[in-house]
Amino acid sequence: LTPAAVAQLRADFPILGESVHGKPLVYLDNAASTQKPQAVIDAISRLYTSYYANIHRGVHQLSQLSTAAHDEARRKVQRFINARSDKEIIFVRGCTEAINLVAQTFGRQNIGPGDEILITAMEHHSNIVPWQMLCQEKGAVLKVAPISDQGELLVDAYEKLLGERTKLVALVHLSNALGTINPVRQLVELAHARSIPVLLDGAQAVSHIPVDVQALDCDFYTFSGHKLYGPTGIGVLYGKEERLEAMPPWQGGGDMIRSVSFEKTTFSGIPFKFEAGTPDICGAIALGVAIDYVQQVGLAAIADYEAELLSYATEQIQAVPGVRLIGTAREKASVLSFVIDGVHPHDIGTILDQQGVAIRAGHHCAQPVMQRLKLPATARASFAFYNTRAEVDALVAAVYTVQEMFG
Ligand code: PMP
Repeated sequence: LTPAAVAQLRADFPILGESVHGKPLVYLDNAASTQKPQAVIDAISRLYTSYYANIHRGVHQLSQLSTAAHDEARRKVQRFINARSDKEIIFVRGCTEAINLVAQTFGRQNIGPGDEILITAMEHHSNIVPWQMLCQEKGAVLKVAPISDQGELLVDAYEKLLGERTKLVALVHLSNALGTINPVRQLVELAHARSIPVLLDGAQAVSHIPVDVQALDCDFYTFSGHKLYGPTGIGVLYGKEERLEAMPPWQGGGDMIRSVSFEKTTFSGIPFKFEAGTPDICGAIALGVAIDYVQQVGLAAIADYEAELLSYATEQIQAVPGVRLIGTAREKASVLSFVIDGVHPHDIGTILDQQGVAIRAGHHCAQPVMQRLKLPATARASFAFYNTRAEVDALVAAVYTVQEMFG
Protein backbone atom coordinates (compact mmCIF):
# COMPACT_ATOMS: atom_id res chain seq x y z
CA LEU A 1 0.00 0.00 0.00
CA THR A 2 1.44 3.34 -1.02
CA PRO A 3 0.78 6.49 1.05
CA ALA A 4 -1.58 7.62 -1.72
CA ALA A 5 -3.50 4.34 -1.58
CA VAL A 6 -3.77 4.61 2.22
CA ALA A 7 -5.03 8.20 1.90
CA GLN A 8 -7.74 6.93 -0.42
CA LEU A 9 -8.67 4.07 1.92
CA ARG A 10 -8.87 6.48 4.87
CA ALA A 11 -11.57 8.37 3.02
CA ASP A 12 -13.69 5.20 3.24
CA PHE A 13 -13.78 5.57 7.06
CA PRO A 14 -15.85 8.64 7.93
CA ILE A 15 -14.91 8.57 11.63
CA LEU A 16 -11.23 9.12 10.79
CA GLY A 17 -12.15 12.69 9.83
CA GLU A 18 -13.44 13.48 13.34
CA SER A 19 -11.69 15.71 15.88
CA VAL A 20 -11.05 14.99 19.56
CA HIS A 21 -10.39 17.84 22.02
CA GLY A 22 -10.02 20.08 18.98
CA LYS A 23 -7.27 17.90 17.50
CA PRO A 24 -7.57 15.58 14.49
CA LEU A 25 -8.36 12.07 15.71
CA VAL A 26 -5.39 9.69 15.64
CA TYR A 27 -7.03 6.33 16.22
CA LEU A 28 -4.50 3.81 17.53
CA ASP A 29 -6.80 1.50 19.51
CA ASN A 30 -7.43 -1.00 16.73
CA ALA A 31 -6.66 -4.07 18.83
CA ALA A 32 -9.67 -3.18 20.98
CA SER A 33 -11.89 -2.53 17.96
CA THR A 34 -11.46 -1.25 14.43
CA GLN A 35 -13.44 1.52 12.77
CA LYS A 36 -15.99 0.77 10.04
CA PRO A 37 -15.80 1.65 6.34
CA GLN A 38 -18.75 3.39 4.68
CA ALA A 39 -19.51 0.17 2.77
CA VAL A 40 -20.30 -1.60 6.06
CA ILE A 41 -22.32 1.33 7.40
CA ASP A 42 -24.27 1.46 4.12
CA ALA A 43 -24.92 -2.29 4.13
CA ILE A 44 -26.52 -2.03 7.59
CA SER A 45 -28.69 0.86 6.48
CA ARG A 46 -29.59 -0.87 3.18
CA LEU A 47 -30.75 -4.03 4.94
CA TYR A 48 -33.04 -2.17 7.34
CA THR A 49 -34.19 0.24 4.65
CA SER A 50 -35.10 -2.19 1.92
CA TYR A 51 -35.11 -5.94 2.53
CA TYR A 52 -35.01 -6.78 6.26
CA ALA A 53 -37.10 -9.67 7.61
CA ASN A 54 -36.47 -12.64 9.88
CA ILE A 55 -34.67 -15.45 8.10
CA HIS A 56 -35.33 -19.16 7.44
CA ARG A 57 -39.03 -19.21 8.22
CA GLY A 58 -40.57 -16.99 5.59
CA VAL A 59 -42.22 -17.84 2.32
CA HIS A 60 -42.42 -14.12 1.57
CA GLN A 61 -39.98 -12.24 -0.58
CA LEU A 62 -38.22 -10.16 2.11
CA SER A 63 -37.54 -13.20 4.24
CA GLN A 64 -36.09 -14.96 1.22
CA LEU A 65 -33.86 -11.99 0.39
CA SER A 66 -32.62 -11.70 3.99
CA THR A 67 -32.05 -15.45 4.18
CA ALA A 68 -30.07 -15.42 0.93
CA ALA A 69 -27.90 -12.53 2.17
CA HIS A 70 -27.30 -14.29 5.49
CA ASP A 71 -26.37 -17.54 3.72
CA GLU A 72 -24.02 -15.64 1.41
CA ALA A 73 -22.33 -14.03 4.43
CA ARG A 74 -21.55 -17.49 5.79
CA ARG A 75 -19.97 -18.46 2.48
CA LYS A 76 -17.89 -15.25 2.54
CA VAL A 77 -16.52 -16.19 5.96
CA GLN A 78 -15.85 -19.71 4.70
CA ARG A 79 -13.84 -18.43 1.74
CA PHE A 80 -12.09 -15.82 3.89
CA ILE A 81 -10.50 -18.41 6.19
CA ASN A 82 -10.55 -21.19 3.57
CA ALA A 83 -12.81 -23.58 5.48
CA ARG A 84 -13.74 -26.72 3.56
CA SER A 85 -17.49 -26.18 3.93
CA ASP A 86 -19.85 -23.37 4.97
CA LYS A 87 -21.31 -25.85 7.48
CA GLU A 88 -18.10 -25.37 9.45
CA ILE A 89 -18.90 -21.69 10.08
CA ILE A 90 -21.02 -21.00 13.18
CA PHE A 91 -22.21 -17.45 13.75
CA VAL A 92 -21.92 -16.36 17.40
CA ARG A 93 -21.80 -13.06 19.30
CA GLY A 94 -18.04 -12.79 19.26
CA CYS A 95 -14.76 -14.52 19.95
CA THR A 96 -15.63 -14.84 23.64
CA GLU A 97 -18.88 -16.63 22.89
CA ALA A 98 -17.15 -18.91 20.39
CA ILE A 99 -14.65 -20.08 23.03
CA ASN A 100 -17.41 -20.55 25.60
CA LEU A 101 -19.39 -22.61 23.10
CA VAL A 102 -16.46 -24.98 22.62
CA ALA A 103 -15.89 -25.18 26.39
CA GLN A 104 -19.55 -25.95 27.08
CA THR A 105 -20.02 -28.53 24.31
CA PHE A 106 -16.75 -30.14 23.27
CA GLY A 107 -15.30 -29.48 26.72
CA ARG A 108 -18.15 -30.88 28.77
CA GLN A 109 -18.34 -33.91 26.51
CA ASN A 110 -14.64 -34.76 26.40
CA ILE A 111 -12.95 -33.44 29.53
CA GLY A 112 -13.22 -35.24 32.85
CA PRO A 113 -11.60 -35.40 36.30
CA GLY A 114 -7.81 -35.25 36.12
CA ASP A 115 -7.77 -34.33 32.42
CA GLU A 116 -5.72 -31.33 31.32
CA ILE A 117 -6.32 -28.30 29.14
CA LEU A 118 -3.20 -26.51 27.93
CA ILE A 119 -3.17 -22.75 27.31
CA THR A 120 -0.30 -20.25 27.26
CA ALA A 121 0.87 -17.42 29.51
CA MET A 122 -0.11 -14.83 26.89
CA GLU A 123 -3.85 -15.54 26.64
CA HIS A 124 -6.65 -13.00 26.73
CA HIS A 125 -9.05 -13.55 29.66
CA SER A 126 -11.58 -14.95 27.20
CA ASN A 127 -9.24 -17.85 26.49
CA ILE A 128 -8.57 -18.47 30.20
CA VAL A 129 -11.78 -18.06 32.16
CA PRO A 130 -14.05 -20.41 30.14
CA TRP A 131 -11.45 -23.18 30.62
CA GLN A 132 -11.06 -22.41 34.31
CA MET A 133 -14.83 -22.66 34.76
CA LEU A 134 -14.85 -25.97 32.90
CA CYS A 135 -11.94 -27.30 34.98
CA GLN A 136 -13.76 -26.34 38.16
CA GLU A 137 -16.92 -28.09 37.03
CA LYS A 138 -15.13 -31.25 35.89
CA GLY A 139 -12.20 -31.49 38.29
CA ALA A 140 -9.84 -31.00 35.36
CA VAL A 141 -6.51 -29.13 35.45
CA LEU A 142 -5.50 -25.99 33.56
CA LYS A 143 -1.86 -26.04 32.43
CA VAL A 144 -0.02 -22.97 31.21
CA ALA A 145 2.86 -22.97 28.73
CA PRO A 146 5.41 -20.28 29.71
CA ILE A 147 6.70 -17.31 27.70
CA SER A 148 10.05 -15.53 27.61
CA ASP A 149 10.75 -11.98 28.81
CA GLN A 150 10.43 -10.93 25.16
CA GLY A 151 6.92 -12.37 25.04
CA GLU A 152 7.62 -15.46 22.94
CA LEU A 153 6.13 -18.85 23.71
CA LEU A 154 8.75 -21.35 24.93
CA VAL A 155 8.04 -24.09 22.43
CA ASP A 156 10.09 -26.79 24.16
CA ALA A 157 8.25 -26.20 27.42
CA TYR A 158 4.95 -26.23 25.50
CA GLU A 159 5.82 -29.57 23.96
CA LYS A 160 6.75 -31.05 27.36
CA LEU A 161 3.34 -30.01 28.71
CA LEU A 162 1.53 -32.03 26.03
CA GLY A 163 0.80 -35.15 28.05
CA GLU A 164 -1.31 -38.27 28.26
CA ARG A 165 -4.04 -36.35 30.04
CA THR A 166 -4.08 -33.30 27.71
CA LYS A 167 -7.50 -33.20 26.07
CA LEU A 168 -7.31 -29.80 24.40
CA VAL A 169 -4.85 -27.03 23.55
CA ALA A 170 -6.27 -23.49 23.34
CA LEU A 171 -3.93 -20.69 22.36
CA VAL A 172 -3.81 -17.27 20.85
CA HIS A 173 -2.69 -16.76 17.24
CA LEU A 174 -1.66 -13.10 17.68
CA SER A 175 -1.38 -11.66 21.20
CA ASN A 176 -3.40 -8.50 21.86
CA ALA A 177 -1.16 -7.45 24.75
CA LEU A 178 2.25 -8.03 23.14
CA GLY A 179 1.69 -8.41 19.40
CA THR A 180 3.47 -11.78 19.36
CA ILE A 181 2.53 -14.05 16.45
CA ASN A 182 2.72 -17.63 17.65
CA PRO A 183 4.12 -20.35 15.35
CA VAL A 184 0.68 -21.90 15.30
CA ARG A 185 1.25 -24.34 12.43
CA GLN A 186 4.09 -25.95 14.38
CA LEU A 187 2.16 -25.85 17.67
CA VAL A 188 -0.84 -27.57 16.06
CA GLU A 189 1.42 -30.23 14.59
CA LEU A 190 3.03 -30.95 17.95
CA ALA A 191 -0.40 -31.36 19.55
CA HIS A 192 -1.80 -33.45 16.70
CA ALA A 193 1.19 -35.79 16.89
CA ARG A 194 -0.36 -36.77 20.25
CA SER A 195 -3.94 -36.69 18.91
CA ILE A 196 -4.77 -33.54 20.92
CA PRO A 197 -7.20 -31.11 19.26
CA VAL A 198 -6.33 -27.40 19.08
CA LEU A 199 -8.41 -24.23 19.32
CA LEU A 200 -6.83 -21.04 17.99
CA ASP A 201 -8.01 -17.66 19.26
CA GLY A 202 -7.84 -15.59 16.09
CA ALA A 203 -9.43 -12.41 17.50
CA GLN A 204 -6.41 -10.30 16.57
CA ALA A 205 -4.96 -12.36 13.74
CA VAL A 206 -7.73 -12.21 11.14
CA SER A 207 -7.37 -8.49 10.47
CA HIS A 208 -3.58 -8.54 10.16
CA ILE A 209 -2.42 -11.77 8.53
CA PRO A 210 -3.94 -14.17 5.99
CA VAL A 211 -5.54 -17.13 7.77
CA ASP A 212 -6.10 -20.52 6.14
CA VAL A 213 -7.68 -22.95 8.60
CA GLN A 214 -7.01 -25.95 6.36
CA ALA A 215 -3.31 -25.11 6.13
CA LEU A 216 -3.16 -24.48 9.89
CA ASP A 217 -5.10 -27.73 10.40
CA CYS A 218 -6.54 -26.37 13.68
CA ASP A 219 -9.70 -27.99 15.00
CA PHE A 220 -11.34 -24.72 16.03
CA TYR A 221 -10.70 -21.08 15.09
CA THR A 222 -12.50 -18.13 16.71
CA PHE A 223 -12.81 -14.41 15.98
CA SER A 224 -15.00 -11.30 16.31
CA GLY A 225 -16.45 -9.14 13.56
CA HIS A 226 -15.77 -5.84 15.31
CA LYS A 227 -11.99 -6.19 15.12
CA LEU A 228 -12.28 -6.94 11.40
CA TYR A 229 -13.94 -3.65 10.35
CA GLY A 230 -17.39 -5.17 10.90
CA PRO A 231 -20.03 -4.48 13.55
CA THR A 232 -20.08 -5.55 17.20
CA GLY A 233 -22.31 -8.42 18.22
CA ILE A 234 -21.23 -10.88 15.54
CA GLY A 235 -18.41 -13.40 15.63
CA VAL A 236 -17.36 -16.71 14.18
CA LEU A 237 -16.59 -20.18 15.42
CA TYR A 238 -14.92 -22.33 12.79
CA GLY A 239 -14.82 -26.04 13.62
CA LYS A 240 -13.82 -29.04 11.56
CA GLU A 241 -16.99 -30.70 10.34
CA GLU A 242 -16.35 -34.03 12.10
CA ARG A 243 -15.67 -32.23 15.40
CA LEU A 244 -18.82 -30.12 15.19
CA GLU A 245 -20.93 -33.14 14.19
CA ALA A 246 -19.76 -35.02 17.27
CA MET A 247 -20.48 -32.16 19.68
CA PRO A 248 -23.81 -31.77 21.49
CA PRO A 249 -25.79 -28.57 20.95
CA TRP A 250 -25.31 -25.69 23.40
CA GLN A 251 -28.31 -23.40 23.69
CA GLY A 252 -31.74 -24.80 22.90
CA GLY A 253 -34.51 -23.02 21.05
CA GLY A 254 -35.86 -22.26 17.63
CA ASP A 255 -33.86 -22.85 14.45
CA MET A 256 -31.60 -25.47 16.00
CA ILE A 257 -34.19 -28.27 15.91
CA ARG A 258 -35.51 -30.69 13.32
CA SER A 259 -38.65 -31.62 15.28
CA VAL A 260 -39.96 -30.93 18.76
CA SER A 261 -42.52 -32.75 20.87
CA PHE A 262 -42.81 -32.92 24.64
CA GLU A 263 -41.42 -36.43 24.50
CA LYS A 264 -38.45 -35.85 22.24
CA THR A 265 -36.58 -33.19 20.29
CA THR A 266 -34.28 -33.93 17.38
CA PHE A 267 -31.66 -31.41 16.38
CA SER A 268 -30.71 -29.74 13.12
CA GLY A 269 -27.42 -30.54 11.46
CA ILE A 270 -24.47 -28.15 11.58
CA PRO A 271 -24.20 -25.17 11.53
CA PHE A 272 -27.79 -24.63 12.70
CA LYS A 273 -27.47 -27.01 15.65
CA PHE A 274 -25.35 -24.31 17.32
CA GLU A 275 -27.42 -21.29 16.31
CA ALA A 276 -30.49 -21.27 18.55
CA GLY A 277 -32.93 -18.42 18.10
CA THR A 278 -33.01 -15.47 15.73
CA PRO A 279 -29.36 -14.65 14.98
CA ASP A 280 -27.74 -11.26 14.45
CA ILE A 281 -28.89 -11.17 10.82
CA CYS A 282 -27.62 -7.68 10.17
CA GLY A 283 -24.31 -8.36 11.92
CA ALA A 284 -23.58 -11.39 9.75
CA ILE A 285 -24.46 -9.58 6.51
CA ALA A 286 -22.36 -6.56 7.50
CA LEU A 287 -19.47 -8.81 8.49
CA GLY A 288 -19.64 -10.31 5.00
CA VAL A 289 -19.34 -6.81 3.54
CA ALA A 290 -16.40 -6.01 5.86
CA ILE A 291 -14.69 -9.17 4.62
CA ASP A 292 -15.28 -8.12 0.99
CA TYR A 293 -13.70 -4.78 1.85
CA VAL A 294 -10.64 -6.30 3.55
CA GLN A 295 -10.14 -8.71 0.67
CA GLN A 296 -10.26 -5.85 -1.81
CA VAL A 297 -7.45 -4.16 0.07
CA GLY A 298 -5.75 -7.56 0.36
CA LEU A 299 -4.43 -9.13 3.53
CA ALA A 300 -0.95 -9.69 2.13
CA ALA A 301 -0.72 -5.97 1.29
CA ILE A 302 -2.13 -5.09 4.73
CA ALA A 303 0.42 -7.32 6.48
CA ASP A 304 3.33 -5.77 4.54
CA TYR A 305 2.18 -2.21 5.12
CA GLU A 306 1.49 -2.71 8.82
CA ALA A 307 4.84 -4.45 9.35
CA GLU A 308 6.60 -1.45 7.88
CA LEU A 309 4.53 0.96 9.99
CA LEU A 310 5.19 -1.07 13.15
CA SER A 311 8.91 -1.10 12.55
CA TYR A 312 8.91 2.69 11.99
CA ALA A 313 6.86 3.21 15.16
CA THR A 314 9.13 0.88 17.14
CA GLU A 315 12.21 2.82 16.07
CA GLN A 316 10.65 6.21 16.83
CA ILE A 317 9.22 5.35 20.22
CA GLN A 318 12.36 3.62 21.42
CA ALA A 319 14.22 6.85 20.85
CA VAL A 320 12.13 8.63 23.50
CA PRO A 321 14.13 8.72 26.77
CA GLY A 322 12.64 6.50 29.49
CA VAL A 323 10.39 4.50 27.15
CA ARG A 324 10.58 0.74 27.39
CA LEU A 325 8.93 -1.54 24.84
CA ILE A 326 6.97 -4.52 26.17
CA GLY A 327 6.77 -7.45 23.78
CA THR A 328 9.73 -7.71 21.45
CA ALA A 329 9.07 -11.04 19.78
CA ARG A 330 10.77 -11.64 16.44
CA GLU A 331 7.40 -12.42 14.87
CA LYS A 332 4.96 -9.71 15.81
CA ALA A 333 2.28 -7.52 14.30
CA SER A 334 0.44 -4.30 14.84
CA VAL A 335 0.85 -3.86 18.61
CA LEU A 336 3.20 -1.40 20.31
CA SER A 337 2.99 -1.92 24.07
CA PHE A 338 5.23 0.31 26.17
CA VAL A 339 5.84 1.80 29.59
CA ILE A 340 7.60 4.98 30.68
CA ASP A 341 9.62 4.72 33.88
CA GLY A 342 7.86 6.57 36.68
CA VAL A 343 4.63 7.30 34.74
CA HIS A 344 1.43 5.31 35.14
CA PRO A 345 0.10 4.06 31.79
CA HIS A 346 -3.29 5.62 32.55
CA ASP A 347 -1.60 9.04 32.77
CA ILE A 348 0.05 8.36 29.41
CA GLY A 349 -3.34 7.47 27.92
CA THR A 350 -5.00 10.56 29.34
CA ILE A 351 -2.32 12.98 28.14
CA LEU A 352 -2.30 11.37 24.69
CA ASP A 353 -6.07 11.70 24.52
CA GLN A 354 -5.71 15.45 25.08
CA GLN A 355 -3.62 15.45 21.88
CA GLY A 356 -6.30 13.52 19.99
CA VAL A 357 -4.30 10.28 20.12
CA ALA A 358 -6.46 7.30 21.13
CA ILE A 359 -4.52 4.44 22.70
CA ARG A 360 -5.34 1.95 25.45
CA ALA A 361 -3.81 1.79 28.92
CA GLY A 362 -4.32 -1.09 31.28
CA HIS A 363 -3.90 -4.84 31.45
CA HIS A 364 -5.60 -5.43 28.08
CA CYS A 365 -7.72 -8.26 29.50
CA ALA A 366 -4.52 -10.21 29.96
CA GLN A 367 -3.67 -9.81 33.65
CA PRO A 368 -1.52 -12.97 33.76
CA VAL A 369 0.70 -11.50 31.01
CA MET A 370 1.19 -8.40 33.15
CA GLN A 371 1.96 -10.56 36.20
CA ARG A 372 4.48 -12.57 34.19
CA LEU A 373 6.26 -9.41 33.07
CA LYS A 374 5.91 -7.82 36.54
CA LEU A 375 3.98 -4.80 35.32
CA PRO A 376 0.71 -3.34 36.57
CA ALA A 377 -0.25 -2.22 33.07
CA THR A 378 1.10 -0.95 29.76
CA ALA A 379 0.21 1.76 27.28
CA ARG A 380 -0.70 0.16 23.96
CA ALA A 381 -0.89 1.68 20.51
CA SER A 382 -2.26 -0.74 17.93
CA PHE A 383 -2.33 -0.18 14.19
CA ALA A 384 -4.62 -0.80 11.26
CA PHE A 385 -3.91 -0.37 7.55
CA TYR A 386 -5.53 3.09 7.64
CA ASN A 387 -2.88 4.43 10.03
CA THR A 388 -0.01 6.51 8.66
CA ARG A 389 3.54 7.56 9.46
CA ALA A 390 2.21 11.03 10.24
CA GLU A 391 -0.03 9.46 12.90
CA VAL A 392 2.93 7.58 14.34
CA ASP A 393 4.74 10.94 14.47
CA ALA A 394 1.76 12.43 16.36
CA LEU A 395 1.90 9.51 18.81
CA VAL A 396 5.63 9.94 19.36
CA ALA A 397 5.35 13.71 19.76
CA ALA A 398 2.64 13.19 22.39
CA VAL A 399 4.83 10.64 24.19
CA TYR A 400 7.64 13.22 24.26
CA THR A 401 5.17 15.61 25.92
CA VAL A 402 4.43 13.00 28.59
CA GLN A 403 8.12 12.41 29.11
CA GLU A 404 8.79 16.14 29.52
CA MET A 405 5.86 16.62 31.92
CA PHE A 406 6.98 13.81 34.19
CA GLY A 407 10.70 13.67 33.46
N1 PMP B 1 -8.92 -12.88 22.26
C1 PMP B 1 -8.11 -11.86 21.99
C2 PMP B 1 -6.68 -12.12 21.67
C3 PMP B 1 -8.63 -10.56 21.98
O1 PMP B 1 -7.82 -9.53 21.69
C4 PMP B 1 -9.99 -10.36 22.28
C5 PMP B 1 -10.60 -8.97 22.32
N2 PMP B 1 -9.81 -8.01 22.97
C6 PMP B 1 -10.79 -11.47 22.55
C7 PMP B 1 -10.22 -12.71 22.54
C8 PMP B 1 -12.24 -11.35 22.88
O2 PMP B 1 -12.96 -10.80 21.83
P1 PMP B 1 -14.45 -10.27 22.08
O3 PMP B 1 -14.37 -9.35 23.27
O4 PMP B 1 -14.77 -9.54 20.82
O5 PMP B 1 -15.31 -11.45 22.31
